[in-house]
Amino acid sequence: YACDVIRNFSIIAHIDHGKSTLADRLLELTGTINKKEVGRNMQVLDKLKVERERGITVKAQTASMIHQYADRNYLLNLIDTPGHVDFSWEVSRSLAACQGALLLVDASQGVQAQSISVFHIAKERGLTIIPVLNKIDLPAAQPELIASQMESTFGINPADIISISAKTGKGVEAVLQAVIERIPPPPQSGPKDPVKAFLFDSLYDRYRGVISLVNIQSGMLQKGDRIASCHTRKKYEITDIGIMHPEEVPTSSLHPGQVGYIACNMKVSSEAHIGDTLHRVGEPVEPMPGFKPSKAMVFAGIFPIDSSDFPKLEESIKRLTLTDRSVTVQRESSSALGQGCRLGFLGTLHMDVFRQRLEDEYDANIIITAPTVPYKLIYRDGKEVFISNPTEFPDVLGVGSKVAEVQEPVVKASIIVPEEYFGEMMDLCHSHRAEELDHRYLDTGSDSSSSRIILNCVLPLSEVVTDFFDQLKGRSSGFASFDYEDAGYQKSDLSKMVFLLNGKPVDALAIIVHKSAQDKVGRAWVKKLHTVIPRQLFELPIQAVIGKKVIARETLSAIRKDVTAGLYGGHYERKMKHLENQKEGKKRMKRIGTVDLPQEAFFDILKK
Ligand code: GDP
Ligand code: MG
Repeated sequence: YACDVIRNFSIIAHIDHGKSTLADRLLELTGTINKKEVGRNMQVLDKLKVERERGITVKAQTASMIHQYADRNYLLNLIDTPGHVDFSWEVSRSLAACQGALLLVDASQGVQAQSISVFHIAKERGLTIIPVLNKIDLPAAQPELIASQMESTFGINPADIISISAKTGKGVEAVLQAVIERIPPPPQSGPKDPVKAFLFDSLYDRYRGVISLVNIQSGMLQKGDRIASCHTRKKYEITDIGIMHPEEVPTSSLHPGQVGYIACNMKVSSEAHIGDTLHRVGEPVEPMPGFKPSKAMVFAGIFPIDSSDFPKLEESIKRLTLTDRSVTVQRESSSALGQGCRLGFLGTLHMDVFRQRLEDEYDANIIITAPTVPYKLIYRDGKEVFISNPTEFPDVLGVGSKVAEVQEPVVKASIIVPEEYFGEMMDLCHSHRAEELDHRYLDTGSDSSSSRIILNCVLPLSEVVTDFFDQLKGRSSGFASFDYEDAGYQKSDLSKMVFLLNGKPVDALAIIVHKSAQDKVGRAWVKKLHTVIPRQLFELPIQAVIGKKVIARETLSAIRKDVTAGLYGGHYERKMKHLENQKEGKKRMKRIGTVDLPQEAFFDILKK
């Protein structure tokens, strides 16, 4: 395929606006898959079980299609992007492999927070944008209103908008035509030019290891070619090459402008750096701009419920990280929870997905600690240290401390919400330490009954990773949409809160809290501990402390030793069962100082 018949494009949209459904229709219409394969409600491109269950695309999936138009065969490369804010940086990278994007907007929902953020990413990259209005089959669709919204928000000419139903297939043919007619082909380059391949995604295959998805910027790649990474300088030999159609189909070579896969004996996914440039060994090239490694922003400890399961858990985590390059792993040991691992994730959804995969695919029984963001400690001697575990945080800050300043990561957030929920959203932002709040109306001039507001602010990431999203949805009856981007670090008044049982700290429960939330958080946790911890043989004080200062306290009263004493009538079987339960419980008891705690209590404490 010569460059002029190639089109590289993406579908960009807010979650649920129909990206996966449209991708299926395009694959079907071009005969890449047949209708029977698709089945009802099963999106071909969403492969992971968790993705299908949650209806979101976590892992980008790419496919090439061949389509005849005006007597010519075109090679259309659909570069799918992951559909969640945790992965917005990956969206931005994969768009670098495209010349155009379909901006999909749900005709019943209208422009949402991620519609705007992905639009800007695509615009900054200079992509041709094809506006598409989806779900016009829905009775609640308001195509004219949403079209004018797209005009006022994006400066899109309503005449350019294609109206479709990805569900029924109506209008989808016109989308393919627009891809061919409106999106420019990739830049020309000769097969003799130096090889420059842009790595925009990777997959993991149990047998062949890492498979990299590349876009050939110039030159030509073949099986057996020796290539090197601009970023790591590591050298590889191509063992398999081809296109995604939609599964891997081997070809003899990949030409300029093409999108395809290469297998080259990379062992772990983290070797395939998204945004990296590959070149022929001995023929270095200028790397593609804007490379940066993906950065874990949410950390949590993962421990087995039964300590003897640790080797198995660690092995499962190792295997899962082979397939997920963006998870970081370190060993961690806790006096309360035993041996475990501290993992870093791109965001909380990423963390949930990983946890669910551990449970589904590896049958793991785990406790996961409260998520933490990476904090920055600036020492008096100028040294900067990032910490991702509350236990590493200094007990006391201030005059005597070597730490001069603590900083936390902040994000630029935007929320789009119908006007009637504006007050609720302002409250929500204020209670999550929002700064630099500003807002404006999204639909200018349209009828006031459907006016929506876009609210922008700067939020600490730690506020976002706890309950922000759930509250946002809850307090707006599901109408608010939310998106955020990295906005660096900011000085903050933070301390480490530790929980003491009978005067002894429980390391796994330490958290970092902001001054303004100390009392509330301390009281809430102590209350929770009080309800979850079983009574002991002695009176048990439960305290939340910062440094030496007690923030909150509860006292758990003592219980008598004989557990069967309370059982009326002494029914034998019931008595035995009770004793057995107690024995079973003993195995999983953790001793904190003088206090025996069942692992289940931790589970109850740490689950939301
Ligand atoms: P994604 O999150 O953007 O990938 O969205 P999906 O493709 O998973 O679609 C989200 C939901 O909208 C699914 O339940 C689809 O069946 C539904 N959907 C997608 N396109 C249409 C459409 O044109 N009409 C209707 N009525 N529903 C659609
Ligand atoms: Mg999807």
